[in-house]
Amino acid sequence: MSHLPETLLAGYRNFMTGRYAAETDRYKSLAREGQSPETLVIACCDSRAAPETIFDSGPGELFVVRNVANLVPPYSPDGEFHSTSAALEFAVQALKVKNIVVMGHGRCGGIRSALDPNSTPLSPGDFIGKWMSLVAPAAETVTSNTMMTQAERQTALERISIRYSIANLRTFPCVKILEQKGRLELFGAWFDISAGELWVMDRETGDFERTSIA
Ligand SMILES: [Zn+2]
Repeated sequence: MSHLPETLLAGYRNFMTGRYAAETDRYKSLAREGQSPETLVIACCDSRAAPETIFDSGPGELFVVRNVANLVPPYSPDGEFHSTSAALEFAVQALKVKNIVVMGHGRCGGIRSALDPNSTPLSPGDFIGKWMSLVAPAAETVTSNTMMTQAERQTALERISIRYSIANLRTFPCVKILEQKGRLELFGAWFDISAGELWVMDRETGDFERTSIA
């Protein structure tokens, strides 16, 4: 018989005696009544930027889709396999979420590969290269700015890509219509791993402002 890695099994045991034991009623009622999260979070796969951890969320609170560099592709009903668009569609149309948060993060490896395609052993045929080509025009603009340092370029593209993904969200007819009706709100956020800072996008200007924890 095969086993999961011991760290996962140990974590599962902790979960069962800790959180599950403390919130059994909540889990059981979620199982009985189904989920009705109010917020969809689109976040990066990065192991250091889990939305449920950052927002201290309990079961049933966040509907989360994670992909490399938290990108939303433009609406393209072409019969191909679109996992992020499928999750978005389900969250908006079936679960009727009220909020969508696109959450980027500092030191994003996907964004780094978009800025420097030679930094990792990726060929243009690899999936990440193709996926990150979604932000290629912005990456080229940032890369060609010789006044910026590499770290500045990285942060700039992380934030530009959040604005880009929010613009792409609005290419989905269901998102656009519900937002216009005032039944759906779109947000951008950026989390900095090193200092635990959460920066939130101003919807008017697109600038990011640090959230105070006071
Ligand atoms: Zn990332």
